[in-house]
Amino acid sequence: MTTRPRRLRPRRAAVLSLHTSPLEQPGTGDAGGMNVYVAQTARRMAELGTEVEIFTRATSSDVPPTAQLVPGVTVRHVVAGPFEGLDKNDLPAQLCTFAAGVLRAEARNAPGHFDVVHSHYWLSGQVGWLARERWGVPLVHTVHTLAKVKNAALASGDTPEPRVRVVGEEQVVDDADRIVANTDLEARHLVELYGADPDTIATVPPGVDLDVFTPGDAREARAKLGLPQDAHVLAFVGRIQPLKAPDVLLRATGELLRRRPELRDRLVVPVVGGPSGTGLEHPESLHELARSLGIDDVVRFLPPRSGADLTAVYRAADAVVVPSHNESFGLVALEAQACGTPVVAARVGGLAVAVDHDTSGLLVDGHDPGRWADALQRIVLDPDLRSRLARGTTTHAEPFSWQRTTEALLDTYAQATAAFHARFATEEATA
Ligand code: UDP
Repeated sequence: MTTRPRRLRPRRAAVLSLHTSPLEQPGTGDAGGMNVYVAQTARRMAELGTEVEIFTRATSSDVPPTAQLVPGVTVRHVVAGPFEGLDKNDLPAQLCTFAAGVLRAEARNAPGHFDVVHSHYWLSGQVGWLARERWGVPLVHTVHTLAKVKNAALASGDTPEPRVRVVGEEQVVDDADRIVANTDLEARHLVELYGADPDTIATVPPGVDLDVFTPGDAREARAKLGLPQDAHVLAFVGRIQPLKAPDVLLRATGELLRRRPELRDRLVVPVVGGPSGTGLEHPESLHELARSLGIDDVVRFLPPRSGADLTAVYRAADAVVVPSHNESFGLVALEAQACGTPVVAARVGGLAVAVDHDTSGLLVDGHDPGRWADALQRIVLDPDLRSRLARGTTTHAEPFSWQRTTEALLDTYAQATAAFHARFATEEATA
């Protein structure tokens, strides 16, 4: 390996996002928080003077080879395997082809085109590792979620993450110059479960777009969504799959209505998002659950949406409910709070950081519907609690800006560059 000249603030970064494109609408399929993360940080890096090229797998014959996200951010669609019909679990077989496409695209440039490679999720990490060797630049890797953590908190009947992922994550953790964790808890998991060197870990919390997600008129938002003005609105936003536990919200709603039948005409539960992951195997199961619980008149299934339409959902809600079994962070929780809406979330992973218990929302232990019904009942029946929590939301969300995340990532690139060159110098000296 030959190394490129040392440059602390990179001129150009290669960002690898193999299995999901920042151009896709999040909230369904494999598109979620990672897409938002990649798009938001890339556009801010470009504003700060670091050009970004994002490599993602082409999933349609219609996509052009390259597309501009914003000036300074290019998305490159790499053909690797059939456009359609591949599940995330099929993608390890496409790593070689994807890596070849990335290396081929870079080879058209003058030497030293990229100063750093930043991979997202383990699949991209495998390709990042090769690019690091080939290009002689540091590798920064963001894990997003960890298989060992996910497998320790599976929803009942959900499929464990495969061994190939565990091994792949271990390899990338071992090889990256810097690993980005969303929270200190995730950093600890990296050390304790994956044997990561603590000095290689940077804890960088993700952010929220504070220009888009702002408090606003709940009445206007409800009118826009066709929701009754006098209803109690408890919303779920996200990819519909067992891991996200929308069923817990539905079961808790059923329990709440069993206890307080008089609420039936005044409760609305919008569920915003599309099937994803193992949720794709039974896309109708949540509808069936609503029917079997006798609450299909209360639950409203709404397709995924972005921008102002999503903001309206947050503003319209008395609370946004995030009952996930595992969550590396939970952007939805931050977005809701930035809109001034309290969050009722499971006390798991990053949600304990994203929500300030009893100040900006409520954290619930476990997934027992009765316990969740208790928390929802407090929100619905106690207007003082609702107002007090609402007052705590924006203060809690404000420090989490994408600007801050991006600046911390650029600092991490600088640390990775220094570490990479120090490691290379040591290897040279001992060779
Ligand atoms: N999202 C969206 N439209 C939807 C549902 C979700 O744009 O209809 C976005 C949401 O705004 C958030 C992301 O998808 O930014 C979900 O991120 P989160 O961290 O909550 O969950 P993940 O998908 O990463 O598991």
